[in-house]
Amino acid sequence: MQFCKLFMLHFQENVSLKAYNTFGIDVKTSYFIEINSETMLFELLSDEIYLSHAYMFIGGGSNLLFTKDFDGLVIKNNLKGITIDEQDDESILLNSQSGEVWHELVLKSISLGYGGLENLSLIPGTVGAAPMQNIGAYGVELKDVFHSLKAVNLKTKEIETFNLEQCRFGYRESIFKKEAKGQYFILSVTLRLLKHPKINASYGAILTTLDEMGFRDLTIQNVSKAIIKIRSTKLPDPKQIGNAGSFFKNPEIDEDQYQTLKSEYPQMPSYLLENANYKIPAAWLIEQCGWKGKRIGNCGSHQDQALVLVNYGNANGSEVYSLAMDIQKSVKEKFNILIQPEVNIY
Ligand SMILES: Cc1cc2nc3c(=O)[nH]c(=O)nc-3n(C[C@H](O)[C@H](O)[C@H](O)COP(=O)(O)OP(=O)(O)OC[C@H]3O[C@@H](n4cnc5c(N)ncnc54)[C@H](O)[C@@H]3O)c2cc1C
Repeated sequence: MQFCKLFMLHFQENVSLKAYNTFGIDVKTSYFIEINSETMLFELLSDEIYLSHAYMFIGGGSNLLFTKDFDGLVIKNNLKGITIDEQDDESILLNSQSGEVWHELVLKSISLGYGGLENLSLIPGTVGAAPMQNIGAYGVELKDVFHSLKAVNLKTKEIETFNLEQCRFGYRESIFKKEAKGQYFILSVTLRLLKHPKINASYGAILTTLDEMGFRDLTIQNVSKAIIKIRSTKLPDPKQIGNAGSFFKNPEIDEDQYQTLKSEYPQMPSYLLENANYKIPAAWLIEQCGWKGKRIGNCGSHQDQALVLVNYGNANGSEVYSLAMDIQKSVKEKFNILIQPEVNIY
């Protein structure tokens, strides 16, 4: 244990990250610290241990696959605080520190009666990681409610503001996962939520689930409850079986490739995109290659969700990675489509 002179920075050494990633992979990091305030963060950015080691920021660890021990410093984000910054007759600007738990922010906004986040209920992780891959579910993405964020430029230590355009959000993408990867720590996120919510219940099984639950009113509360129910039944709970949600992104193919594949596989599901390309569910491709429910050693593709790779208990990260690469290879061979991981691999 080492202590800095100005501020009590509490570094732990040789720490297992098993409890800090939802895959439950037992790797070790040389140094580990939790940051609880901006002051502590800036203190850390000048500390010798930070300056002389590789570092990685983590939130809830729900979109990570550790393939080996980390020879550096893992910084767990614990910055808390939610405020309403501005409001008019139509909307509010809700600001959240990045270490808040995403689902708790969703529940808070719903309890206050503000609409926009209900379809994003029960997505694991922190608020600060949400812009990283423009989280999305049930027909809504973060970008649909996003106003701006503040991030520390880790080179200059200046705080910069990013608006919607500057974040360059795409499907499970943003500037922070691409061009600016590793260059910023997201401090806080501001969302524009509606005082008179517009309900989006057309996606998936929301309406039938509302019906089954006996909910007649289309309210943000009821939509959130229905989505929580669907997700709890459909997705494996990381507390029961290690996973990081969808391992791969749904690939996009052009019209020519779509027509070729469709003639060979008439049952292939697809969504026509605005750019005239087609999105193909990665789960279907993986299932067609015979991976669904298949277990290889300590890991496998989930029996109900082919896209979710799971740790049956003692898998190491390289085992999961190797499984993912085998899946990727077989999909490429069968369909000539390269599916890309959604999960961040370290
Ligand atoms: C069961 C399950 C279901 C899921 N369902 C969905 C879903 O429906 N939709 C969806 O989009 N995702 C889904 N995910 C993925 C995951 O919940 C999201 O990607 C989430 O935003 C990750 O948050 P986190 O705090 O756990 O991030 P981490 O896993 O801790 O980090 C992810 C990446 O972001 C970086 N990072 C984290 N915080 C910051 C920060 N403050 N500043 C800069 N970089 C940062 C990390 O370095 C890492 O590269 C699911 C995951 C699981 C386990």
